[in-house]
Amino acid sequence: MTAATHSTLFPQVPDSADAVLDGLDPEQREVATALRGPVCVLAGAGTGKTRAITHRIAYGVRAGILQPSSVLAVTFTNRAAGEMRGRLRQLGAAGVQARTFHSAALRQLQYFWPKAIGGSLPRLVDRKIQLVADAAAACRIRLDRGELRDAAAEIEWSKVTQTVPADYALAAAKAGREAPRDPAEIAQLYAAYEDLKRARSVIDFEDVLLLTVAVLQDRQDVADQVRAQYQHFVVDEYQDVSPLQQRLLELWLGDRDDLCVVGDASQTIYSFTGATPDHLLDFRVRHPGATVVKLVRDYRSTPQVVHLANGLLGQARGRAADHRLELVSQRAAGPEPVYAEYADEPAEAEGAARRIRELIDSGVPAAEIAVLFRTNSQSETYEQALADAGVPYQLRGAERFFDRPEVRKAGSALRAAARFGGNDSLLDDVVDLPSQVRAVLSGEGWTTEPPAGSGAVRERWESLAALVGLAQDFAAARAGATLSDLVVELDERAGAQHAPTVQGVTLASLHSAKGLEWDVVFLVGVAEGMMPITYAKTDEQIEEERRLLYVGVTRARERLHLSWALARSPGGRPSRRPSRFLKGLRPGSGTAGGRAAAGGTGGVERGFRGGGGGTEAAVPRRTRRTPARCRVCGRTLTDAGEMKLMRCEGCPSDMDEGVYERLREWRAVQAGRSGQPAFCVFTDKTLMAIAESVPEDERELARIPGVGARKLNRYGADVLAICAGQEGVGLDEDD
Ligand code: ATP
Ligand code: MG
Repeated sequence: MTAATHSTLFPQVPDSADAVLDGLDPEQREVATALRGPVCVLAGAGTGKTRAITHRIAYGVRAGILQPSSVLAVTFTNRAAGEMRGRLRQLGAAGVQARTFHSAALRQLQYFWPKAIGGSLPRLVDRKIQLVADAAAACRIRLDRGELRDAAAEIEWSKVTQTVPADYALAAAKAGREAPRDPAEIAQLYAAYEDLKRARSVIDFEDVLLLTVAVLQDRQDVADQVRAQYQHFVVDEYQDVSPLQQRLLELWLGDRDDLCVVGDASQTIYSFTGATPDHLLDFRVRHPGATVVKLVRDYRSTPQVVHLANGLLGQARGRAADHRLELVSQRAAGPEPVYAEYADEPAEAEGAARRIRELIDSGVPAAEIAVLFRTNSQSETYEQALADAGVPYQLRGAERFFDRPEVRKAGSALRAAARFGGNDSLLDDVVDLPSQVRAVLSGEGWTTEPPAGSGAVRERWESLAALVGLAQDFAAARAGATLSDLVVELDERAGAQHAPTVQGVTLASLHSAKGLEWDVVFLVGVAEGMMPITYAKTDEQIEEERRLLYVGVTRARERLHLSWALARSPGGRPSRRPSRFLKGLRPGSGTAGGRAAAGGTGGVERGFRGGGGGTEAAVPRRTRRTPARCRVCGRTLTDAGEMKLMRCEGCPSDMDEGVYERLREWRAVQAGRSGQPAFCVFTDKTLMAIAESVPEDERELARIPGVGARKLNRYGADVLAICAGQEGVGLDEDD
């Protein structure tokens, strides 16, 4: 998996500079050998841009033309930078600096601060929201939590677009920003925020770049020293450069022009933070003598994946789209993309997890599979479904749901509110559980309407919204449930999903998947409201969403699965529609509204096969979930944990403690052997259910939720032996 190239393709360091060029096509070679002057590579996804620049640096170093320490390669994430350093090492060009703009600037700032300013660099604050709140108080502007976050996003945007407070109102109007308040008030707040920072001697994330720019602008001696150090610059993913990063790059460069940029305007996905592909598209204008190379051969994906990617771009509009290049796949044919429609989100996640299980069982390494989603709040459903299917996973770009700071804080707030119960004045007049949760979480930044701010702000809100949704589902499933019950449920969910340490299926947001590739990609939640996301309103915003889907599609080397759910929760109204971006591209989408309604049959899955020729087995298997009932009191169960136990949490357990303990010991040994976390063998709930029903044969064991065919096959004999009281089962070391 991971970006660009398999490390296995580089088993040995090439034995000469020329050997570094082996494995590049003629255009890529042109990039790699154009070591002087401005170079711009405009090319689509998977055409080898990252590979070409890595080889370019390595070739220059190995040929003795570039001094390793004189090269600065800039990428957009720490992971990409780390990967580039690794690849350069494999090509025999260690010692080259590959960094993000931020880390390169921070390093320079720390070094030059004592000389340029005096003293040591002020402390870097990692979250600016408290400072914004204090600034608002100083200005006597009352903002609720949502407005505070939006205001913080406006300040960030202003800073990366180098807009000073006095110019904010005009610039925001020009850029079509939706300010949470009167722009004059935001400008006042922004000015107060800057004053406060200065008074407290702290700097924020954007200041790192701004201050580096300021020092390089004002101090010729510092600029000279930096320019003497770095003479060659390479920028990957240049389409997402912000005006501030561009300014920094210009200052690093001075009046020289040894700059090589690569990018794909069709993958611009950070416009909302102030980034713009104009720098890439206008490179020739700013550097009239530039070597411009276009790459169209797509080495990453099969013709089937590339066909869909080209189709998506074919419908795109705007400046980026005007520069699109039709990709030509260099790979052998593969399966058609698979499209699948599900009744609800948990069913969609279960469906994906089941397919992933099948793929892994058929020999596809878990690390070659990714599930990509639009918002981080979608990850929890997939974390759960994969854990239930015994599939190890890792999160990329997104923290695990229950580890996110806002989710932890929300958990503490709910716990505190549950402890105080009716004595909490906040909850005095609120009786039903969802309203109580909304009341508590509004103190944490939850608002009825989503904020119009940047990605991070939005994602924090989405996390809280996911908790509100969870409370609604929980209350609907358990009449009379209290806040304390919900807290127990949350703890339980958090506990059941301990981060596996093994390599596994990647769960990532589309934004964080940029530059990466996997053999199999599941694009989930490809529905209206998610893709495009509800708050994308203007044409430009819709186009950015389309590009995001294009980024997702082009991450797949061989297999691509696209899915959506008609309702959020089981039994919910099936009001959602598949994404408009797939219209005319997926089978059956040609006629508007021509798709037969799936009709709320709860749990029915539909699978569409891609347009002919696919070898992929689609998922039209229909599974109708029969209502589970508590085996003690007979109540219908809707909570996943209770369904596994096959009884209400509150109903008495008749568990055989001895069997339970032996099962747990056995599970620890199994987990250790396979290098999986214990819950991937069986969850606690499943073990409890086994110890309660003590099955005597396979049929009885198979009835327990969480014991699917695969687990039955693999563990059935051991479990039945433990239930039958046989000693020492599965605990011997040779296996
Ligand atoms: P993205 O736009 O997604 O960042 P990219 O243009 O940077 O993609 P790379 O990641 O460099 O593309 O390359 C895509 C894949 O194609 C990688 O697996 C890479 O090793 C492979 N590849 C690129 N060029 C060649 C080539 N000339 N021969 C064989 N494989 C290649
Ligand atoms: Mg790349």
